[in-house]
Amino acid sequence: MAEVKEVNKSHNGIEDIYTPVTHNPENILEVNKLKKYYPIGGGALTKAKGYVKAVDGVSFNIKRGTTMGLVGESGCGKSTIGRTILRLQDKSGGEVLFNGEEVHSISKKELRKLRTKMQIIFQDPFSSLSPRLPVGEIIGEAVRQHGIVPKEEHEAYIDKIMASCGLQPFHKDRYPHEFSGGQRQRICIARALAVNPEFVVCDEPVSALDVSIQAQIINLLKDLQEEYNLTYLFISHDLSVVEHISDTVGVMYLGTMVEYGEKEDIYREPLHPYTKALFSAIPMPDPNTKMNRIILKGSIPSPANPPKGCKFHTRCEHCMEVCKTTPPAQYDAGNGHLVACHLYNK
Ligand code: ADP
Ligand code: MG
Repeated sequence: MAEVKEVNKSHNGIEDIYTPVTHNPENILEVNKLKKYYPIGGGALTKAKGYVKAVDGVSFNIKRGTTMGLVGESGCGKSTIGRTILRLQDKSGGEVLFNGEEVHSISKKELRKLRTKMQIIFQDPFSSLSPRLPVGEIIGEAVRQHGIVPKEEHEAYIDKIMASCGLQPFHKDRYPHEFSGGQRQRICIARALAVNPEFVVCDEPVSALDVSIQAQIINLLKDLQEEYNLTYLFISHDLSVVEHISDTVGVMYLGTMVEYGEKEDIYREPLHPYTKALFSAIPMPDPNTKMNRIILKGSIPSPANPPKGCKFHTRCEHCMEVCKTTPPAQYDAGNGHLVACHLYNK
């Protein structure tokens, strides 16, 4: 079949060419050549001076009931992907299909309904909880708004959700500041879960917590996933946390996804030079294991002016001439393990 190319003029005039994806019902989420460019300078009437290419053509799918881990250093575009998927902000190009439906082209009314199906949990549970509302209200607010359960069942429903999240129902009348960091994250999880979502973006949900508490929250998320058949996009810069929870993993660098695959494949044999460097920095539990740490040269270039060709070429120890001029295609190393690197162009 001939390739169908579609030119999509997005709101900020960035022209985007992509082949629309065909929906596979196994996937809850299909992200195709997603772009998010933030304008630099300019105002309501003046033209932008340039763009921060926070997300620059990222594609991946998430199968229902699984967890995809998204890793990469700070500023590489992970949170932007999360927010754009949920349409908390507009996209600049590409597609986001949730259950086969383009999230960015549905009406405001449909979006309101969809919001209950797609939830987000943030890193800082304190700033995302209203200090003036008791916990029962925080968790129950959206349940009431969306009529998730009949009025008379409301209280019992909140109790049940709180219990599933390891919270005592009698804590309903307390305020967020009366809880520890880990418990506050449980409150955020309960609030997200209460509207009966299918998909949850977890954006660094344990990064602000003590290591001992991190494991409890990760285990809670895993238990809830099983109980409610949830799908997660789990964003973290911490590779050991991602290893615990993910089925598939995507590695980001400067707005692009350099490697993607099954967790086992990525952790056993990382292929992209950037992923190898990232993995070489994981501390080993056994102090006698020698770490062959790969130190990357230079610093991360600005996403407003990313290097031509492969965005990683300025820091790559294997850089070839082609890398300086041509962005690499994604090569399949088997089992859907994709790597965007010219080294694998055999
Ligand atoms: P990560 O979550 O991986 O740390 P982000 O998605 O937060 O990365 O940011 C990606 C890039 O986009 C960064 O360079 C960041 O400065 C920029 N960015 C994020 N949000 C905005 C915004 N609202 N306006 C302009 N630039 C932004
Ligand atoms: Mg972030």
